[in-house]
Formats: sequence, structure tokens, C-alpha cells
Amino acid sequence: MRSGDIAGAGRYRTAMPELPEVETTVRGLARFLDGETLARVTTRRGDLRRPFPPDLVQVLTGARVTGMGRRAKYGLIHVDRGQTMVFHLGMSGRWRIDPEELEKHDHLVLETGSGHRLALCDPRRFGSVDLVATAALEQWPPFAALGPEPLSDALTPGHLAASFKDRVAAIKLLLLDQRIVAGLGNIYVCEALYRARIDPRKAAGKASRPALGRLVPAIKTVLEEAIAAGGSTLRDYAQPDGQLGYFSKTFDVYDREGEPCRSCSGTVRRIVQGGRSTWFCPSCQK
Ligand SMILES: [Zn+2]
Repeated sequence: MRSGDIAGAGRYRTAMPELPEVETTVRGLARFLDGETLARVTTRRGDLRRPFPPDLVQVLTGARVTGMGRRAKYGLIHVDRGQTMVFHLGMSGRWRIDPEELEKHDHLVLETGSGHRLALCDPRRFGSVDLVATAALEQWPPFAALGPEPLSDALTPGHLAASFKDRVAAIKLLLLDQRIVAGLGNIYVCEALYRARIDPRKAAGKASRPALGRLVPAIKTVLEEAIAAGGSTLRDYAQPDGQLGYFSKTFDVYDREGEPCRSCSGTVRRIVQGGRSTWFCPSCQK
């Protein structure tokens, strides 16, 4: 898949990157970065959402990448100087692999010792790049208050029950609260509530234990399926001008207002909660 195909495919969704996109991006980048030396690091403007760290180029140039990871919707590039470069793709960020030519939205460029060039392209500049001491990552303010990773064993029905206890806010809104579960966004919350057959408007504290018992595996499954869909496209990134961060997926309810439910004879409905759209099937989700 070339870059033009990614942007132009018919029913392709151009929603902002969520956890599966970030996970896919990190796995894709790791093929080019993990274990590599960063021979050259260039910033081509001073900021994204906020300024680049003033010592970014100095710290990364000549450093070796010792590992990569993800926390919530942040990508992590650990280097052998005790520092981690933390990136967020914001609304429109993506990494371009070996672009033939840099373009004006390629704001940070990493060149590896083996000759690969990786450009962080972010036209709307809602993304961010930070340097954090690797040993202190968990205390970094954006990470300190985060709830458990949805794909970790820490996300259990018991954790949700404790977090939702006596809460009258809609369950959909609390699932978007990063202090309760880290990294869940609008798309996968809608999809998980549909899989678990839970009405997104239900007061969180009123969700039954069996419902939460369905919700936890539903969250994990929708994310794992999306990561698998992204992983199946990873080979395409080896092409010149390949991009990381976006891939096409099909959804059961997300962005399907007025279309038939895939499980019953009902129709997918859209409502607005907390200023954002929720898609669900009123017949299936109680
Ligand atoms: Zn239905």
C-alpha cells in the first residue's frame, strides 16, 4: 500500500489514531529502530502542540535504541542514555518510512546508522514529543494518573466495578476516562459496549457484574482485532514512502448510523454524549 492508497480508499476512516494505531506504529517503527544507532536527528520546526525538548537533538544523536513500547496512546523509544523519547500522534500524526523527499509537515527526522530515514509527519500539529528519564516514566505527569492498560491483566471486572461504584455518569463516558482505563478512545468504547450488549447510556454504577464480565473481554477483543488488522498491513511499510499510524478496519457500530445492526434486525443509532457521538444498537444493548 502506497501513501496515496492509504488516504484515498473508499470507506477508509480517517479518525484520529487510537491505541491500536499507536501499537501498530510502535511495532512498525521497531523494525527500523530497535537496536539501531540514531546517526542523525533533525527538527525542522520548533514545536508541535508544544515545543520540542531543547536537548532532544543532543540527547538522541549518537544514542542507541534499546527498546520500544507504548503506554496508553503514547509511543516510547528508549535509548541507552537513560532517556525515553515519548511521542503522541495527536489528531493527524504519522511516521513516514524512508520518504523519497521530505515534505513540509515532516517535523522530526531520525536517520539510523543502517541508513533508514523516519519522519514524524503531523500536518495539524496536535501531536507531541517529549524526553523523559526512563526510570521515572511512571511518575511523568501524563502517565502518573493513568489507569491500567486495557490489554493488561490489571483490567478486570473487579477493577471496573470498583471504579464505577455509585457513579451515575453514563458508562460510555467513564470508559473514556483515562484514569479508569488508559488509552481507550471513542471508537473502541462504542465497539466494546456493543460486543458486551451494554447500553452506553446506562449509569456506570448500575452495570451488573455479568455485564462487566462481558465488557472486559469485549474491550480486549476489539483492540486485539484492530491491532491484528494493523499488523497484517505492516509489510507494506517496508515500501518507500510507507506510512505508519493508519489502516482500514471495519466496525460494527462506529460511524454506521441508520445502517442495519449486524446481530439483530435493529438499526444502529447515533446519540451525543459528552459532546461526542456514540453509535449503538438500542435493540441489542440494554
Ligand atoms: Zn442489534
